[in-house]
Amino acid sequence: MSPKKIVLRFPPQIVDRPLISTLVKDYDLMISIVKANINPYKEGSMVVELTGDPDNYNQGLDFLRDQGVRVEDLSEDIVRIMDRCTHCGACTSSCPTGALFISRPSMEVILDDEKCVVCGVCLKTCPVKAIEVNFNGKN
Ligand code: SF4
Ligand code: SF4
Repeated sequence: MSPKKIVLRFPPQIVDRPLISTLVKDYDLMISIVKANINPYKEGSMVVELTGDPDNYNQGLDFLRDQGVRVEDLSEDIVRIMDRCTHCGACTSSCPTGALFISRPSMEVILDDEKCVVCGVCLKTCPVKAIEVNFNGKN
């Protein structure tokens, strides 16, 4: 199975349980933690990338749900912070899909969401850090 990114939301009462290690140990899943916000006695959230056998993946997610974890699909998109963007055009040459392009004759840099595959390449090329990845959990 190709890696899948999901959002996990942990209610305060289970935030300290070793649920992630159970996914590795009992369901043989490889887990990469993309982002985590876990604090004692508070609702926690985690963005993780899971890789493994599809049956194990589904059983592992059922296990989490049984424990009270909310499992959400991850949607990611690229956002441009317009008051930082200088329309220098540096990101347009690195974008592999043409999602970022210079519109003529205004010479404004445009982001076409439909073409963006959220590869993240443009984040590294922007000199003023005007591009960010937005992570949204969706049911
Ligand atoms: S994330 Fe990738 S595809 Fe999307 S705009 Fe940036 S470089 Fe282009
Ligand atoms: S590289 Fe950054 S500042 Fe330049 S056009 Fe792209 S988003 Fe704007």
